[in-house]
Amino acid sequence: MSRVLVTGAAGFLGSHLCDALLARGEEVIGVDNFSTGRPENLAVARAHRAFVLLEQDVCNPLAVSGELDAVCHLASPASPADYLRLPLETLRAGSRGTETAIALAAEHGARFVLASTSEVYGNPLVHPQPETYWGNVNPIGPRSVYDEAKRFAEALTAAYARTGCLNAGIARIFNTYGPRLRPGDGRVVSNFVAQALAGEPLTVYGEGTQTRSFCYVEDLVDGLVRMIDAEVLGPVNLGNAVEVTVLELAQCVLELTGSTSRIVHRPLPADDPTRRRPDVARASELLGWKASVSLREGLARTIQWWARATATAQ
Ligand code: NAD
Ligand code: UDP
Repeated sequence: MSRVLVTGAAGFLGSHLCDALLARGEEVIGVDNFSTGRPENLAVARAHRAFVLLEQDVCNPLAVSGELDAVCHLASPASPADYLRLPLETLRAGSRGTETAIALAAEHGARFVLASTSEVYGNPLVHPQPETYWGNVNPIGPRSVYDEAKRFAEALTAAYARTGCLNAGIARIFNTYGPRLRPGDGRVVSNFVAQALAGEPLTVYGEGTQTRSFCYVEDLVDGLVRMIDAEVLGPVNLGNAVEVTVLELAQCVLELTGSTSRIVHRPLPADDPTRRRPDVARASELLGWKASVSLREGLARTIQWWARATATAQ
């Protein structure tokens, strides 16, 4: 592998993926329209001579001259607050944007990796979720702009792969957190850490008994890189198999920050999945991958980064 294009490069995951690829000697072309990403996420990448950024919408045709070995398609709003604010843009990034990225990969004979999501399982009726589970998604609910866009993106990827013209892989990413989460992006770790450090109440939606399985970004990016290198279509779940309730997460953030913030309850958003945990057997079998950073360790690193980033910004 020598030259990789990453869409969504200025985002939380995309920027870490660019850094990891540059660190192992790849040339990286980043694509981003900065709709939810931030220029500062690319500070490390931009310091490399092997990095270039194309500032453009992934829905417009991508023209890249020279060889290309892989295309990783991460461009899409990902936080529920973002995709509810950008519903049509989210549907386009998953549909037109995916087709544009696939066309580029096919033109160059490059491997294509789709960043899909555990949201394709919707509010799952099977627990934990294996890749063979087809999901339980409300096709016209508010979250459908994201869920159905990703389901379409998976269908498109699988259809191209079936033609034999595309070497493709589908990664179903479960909730991931870590440095470079955008303060105010509305995701639960961003909200709780920001609230705890500011001494504001932690907003638990509903009773806080709903569960998620949180993966540290370093682990996740390692899984994505293995997916680039592998020859498998998958789909493959990438996530940490340790499941916690939202209330347990809030308590852990309070403990690690030493914050005296209260916990307050707010209404549960529509169609919020009640529980989510990846079955990670396939990731282990096909990629030799398993998350290794514990929630406490990952949160401690995230909180440390967050406190430093906030102090520098002031
Ligand atoms: P993010 O919002 O931080 O990053 C997304 C990036 O894509 C941003 O830089 C944004 O500006 C860019 N983008 C959006 N639409 C674009 C467009 N039309 N053209 C060009 N750039 C565009 O989100 P993230 O957490 O880094 O997620 C990255 C990918 O991983 C997404 O596809 C998301 O669905 C997937 N994913 C993430 C998680 C997670 O927990 N972080 C979980 C499941 C799936
Ligand atoms: N959540 C919460 N408080 C917040 C933000 C989110 O209780 O301030 C809950 C949300 O309702 C969901 C879980 O935390 O049950 C994870 O939410 P997030 O938006 O991070 O990701 P999701 O898994 O819903 O895509």
